[in-house]
Amino acid sequence: AQVVQAEFIKSSVRTEDCPSDGLPEFALVGRSNVGKSSLLNSLVRRKKLALTSKKPGKTQCINHFKVNDSWYLVDLPGYGYASAPQELRTDWNKFTKDYFLNRSTLVSVFLLIDASIPAKKIDLEYASWLGQNQVPMTLIFTKCDKRKKKRNGGKRPEENVNEFQELIRGFFETAPPWIMTSGVTNQGRDEMLLHMAQLRNY
Ligand code: GDP
Repeated sequence: AQVVQAEFIKSSVRTEDCPSDGLPEFALVGRSNVGKSSLLNSLVRRKKLALTSKKPGKTQCINHFKVNDSWYLVDLPGYGYASAPQELRTDWNKFTKDYFLNRSTLVSVFLLIDASIPAKKIDLEYASWLGQNQVPMTLIFTKCDKRKKKRNGGKRPEENVNEFQELIRGFFETAPPWIMTSGVTNQGRDEMLLHMAQLRNY
């Protein structure tokens, strides 16, 4: 289940503007700086495919990348971007939520969680919203190569991963699938690709 071909298709602001060819898609979302660009690039084994600009305005769209001519990886705006004006942030929320609720070809939302730090409130809120709205979700833990640091509370990635799952348990009828990854070591890349292949054929 490797990526042999990947191309940027389009940026959309509204769900209605997204590609209409009916191909299945997986959407990546997470807090700014969670490692989304690194993960996307690791998945497609290519540098610079993802729109890596950190400036608000470049990253506030729904970005569709077609893979192997048969499915999409979708890069969604990061949330919790500290320097974006509040009204902009609210707007992103609005259209991202509309996308989650109304995009019929969306197979699973890949919620990226930084495994090198303890659970953040905003991530728990995001997960709970997806759970309560029964949006299919996969937890993708990032930066699993990072070793513990005193200032991060001294926890190993495995401990943070377990804690996060404990904290969201109540929001889901069945626990969402989860994968531990690293954009640095490429940990989890094959597992993610296999997971997506299985979901597409389901
Ligand atoms: P984005 O804002 O979510 O697209 O995050 P980036 O992919 O740009 O990564 C943000 C920062 O985290 C950068 O300094 C990366 O070098 C670092 N980073 C991203 N992924 C990993 C990872 O898997 N392991 C480690 N150790 N650092 C990472």
